[in-house]
Amino acid sequence: MTLRQKILLLGLTAIVGMAFGLWRQHIYHAAELDAVETMARNGEAVAALSAVAHELQRERGFTTYALAGALPPATLAEEIARTDAALARLDRTGLTPPNLRAILAALRQAVTTGDLAPLVARDDFSVMLRMIIDEMARLAREPAATLAREEVAAHAHLVAMKEFLGQARATVVYWIANPRDERRALDSLMRIKTLFDEEQRKFALQAAPRLKEALHARFSGPEVEATLETLLLAVADGRLPERLDARAWLAMATVAIDRLFELENHSLRQIEAKVASRLDELRGEITLGLAATLAATLFVAALTLSATVSLLRALQRTLSGMERIAASRDFGSRIPVAAPDEIGRIARSFNELLEIAEGLLREKEHLAATDPLTGVSNRLRFAQVLAEEARRKRRNKTPMALVIFDIDRFKRINDSFGHNVGDAVLKHLAQLVAAQIRSTDFFGRWGGEEFILLLRDESCDAAFATAEKLRKLIADADFPSVGAITCSFGVTAWQEDDTATSLIARADEALYAAKQNGRNRTTCDRPPGTGCPGLAACGRPPVLPLALAEAAHRD
Ligand code: GH3
Ligand code: MG
Ligand code: MG
Repeated sequence: MTLRQKILLLGLTAIVGMAFGLWRQHIYHAAELDAVETMARNGEAVAALSAVAHELQRERGFTTYALAGALPPATLAEEIARTDAALARLDRTGLTPPNLRAILAALRQAVTTGDLAPLVARDDFSVMLRMIIDEMARLAREPAATLAREEVAAHAHLVAMKEFLGQARATVVYWIANPRDERRALDSLMRIKTLFDEEQRKFALQAAPRLKEALHARFSGPEVEATLETLLLAVADGRLPERLDARAWLAMATVAIDRLFELENHSLRQIEAKVASRLDELRGEITLGLAATLAATLFVAALTLSATVSLLRALQRTLSGMERIAASRDFGSRIPVAAPDEIGRIARSFNELLEIAEGLLREKEHLAATDPLTGVSNRLRFAQVLAEEARRKRRNKTPMALVIFDIDRFKRINDSFGHNVGDAVLKHLAQLVAAQIRSTDFFGRWGGEEFILLLRDESCDAAFATAEKLRKLIADADFPSVGAITCSFGVTAWQEDDTATSLIARADEALYAAKQNGRNRTTCDRPPGTGCPGLAACGRPPVLPLALAEAAHRD
C-alpha cells in the first residue's frame, strides 16, 4: 500500500468514525425525543382524562339531584354537553376507555326513563371514574413514560382522592336525606373514606416535594377541615355532626373538592412544564451535539484533505526533482525546499548530497583533465578541447592556430641533474608559459617534455609571433639548478579540410623541422600559396645553455 493510499485510508477512517458517532448520537437523541414526545402526548391525555373525570363527577352530582326531582332537566342537559365536550377531547388522544361511552349512554338512558335508583346511578358513575383513573395509572406505568412517571402517578392519586371525596359528598347527602338508611350510608362512607386515605397515602409517596407542599397549602382552610372532620366523625363514631344540613355540607364539601381540582390543574401544569423544559433542553443538546460533531467532522476532513494534498504535493515535487536529477545526472541543479518540515529536510539533505557529489565529480574531472606534475591540462583534456574547436571551426571560418614545442636536449638535463630536476624544469616551464598566454588560448602538456598551445582566432603569422615570443621568453628565463634551456616550436594554422589529427600532425611536422634545422627555433607549416616559405626555419640558431653545452662537450 502506498503512502498516499495509507493517508487516504486514515482520513476515510476518521470520517467514517465521525459519521458513526453522529449516527449513534442521532439514535440516542431520537430515542430521547421519542420519550419526551410520548410524555408530551401522555401529558395531554392525562389532562383530557382529568377533565373527563371532573365532568363525570359533576354530572354524577347533577344526575343524583335530577333523580331526586330537584333539578330542572335543562341544567342536566347543559352538564351532559360539558361531559361530552370533555369526552370528545379525550377521544382525540385515542385513550378513551373502551366501555366508557356504552356505560354512560345506558346510564343516561336509564335516567331519562327514571328507571334508576340514585345510589345505583352513583355507583355506575364511580365505575366510569375508576376506569379513567386506572387509565391514568396505566399511562404512568408505560415504559416510554420515564420522564414524568412519578408526576403522572401522583396526579392519578390526586384525581382518585377527588373522586372519593365526591363519592363521600354524595353519600353524606344521601345519609341526611335518608336517615333510616343510615347503616347502608355509613358502610359506604367507611369504604370510601378508607379508599380516600389510601389514595392520599400513595399521593404522599409518589408526589414531588413541591407538589406535596402545594397539597398542604391548597387543600386547607375551614371548609376543607370541616369536611374532613365530618368524615372522620362519621367513620369513628358512626354519626354525623348535629344540625348538619344537606346544603351546608354540600357547600363545604364542594369547596374541598374544588381545592383538589385546583391542585389537579397545578399538577398538570407542572407535568407540562417539565415536558416542555426537557424538550427545550433536548433540542439544545441535539443542536449543540450535531453542530459540535459536524464541526469536528468537517475539521478532521479538512485537515486530512489539506495534510494529504500538501504532503503528496511536496512528496511529488521532491520525488520528481530527484528523478529528474538522477536521469539527467545534472548534479549542479537543486530540488526546491518548500517548507521546514520533514519533506523539506529530505530535500535539504538530498541537496547537500548533491553538493558533495558535485564536488567529487569536479575533483574527478579536474584530476582526469590535469597533468599531475605541471598542473596544466593533460593530453586527454587538450584533445577534447581541440576536437570541440575543430567542430566549431568547420561551422565558422575564423582562423585558429596550433603550436607544439619541445624542450631541446631534455634527456641531457635528466642525465646531468637527475630526474627530479628534470621534473622541476618541466613544472617551471609550464608555469612560465601558462602565465603568458591569453584567456582565449588553451595550453597543455602533450607528453614527456612536449607542450601544446591552441590559439583561438589567431592566424598563422600571429601564431608564429606568439611562438617566437614564447621561445625567447624561455630561452631568456633562468631555470633553477639548470640555468637556461631552449625549446623548438612547430606552428601551423587551421585549414578548411583539416581535422584535429591533421592539424596536430602538421604542427608536429613543423616541430620536427625545427629540430632538424638546429633547434631553438620556430618553424611554421604554412599552406602552399599563402606566401609562406613552407617548413621554413625561423628564429636564431640554437644556442645551448651553458651547463648543457658543457655536458655536450663532455659527450
Ligand atoms: P630533442 O632535442 O631531440 O628533443 O632531444 P631530447 O633529449 O629532448 O629528446 P629525447 O626524446 O631523446 O628525450 C626526451 C626525454 O625526456 C626522455 C625522457 O626521459 C624525458 N622525460 C620524458 N618525460 C619526463 C618527465 O616527466 N620527467 C623527466 N624528468 N623527464 C622526462
Ligand atoms: Mg626534447
Ligand atoms: Mg620530445
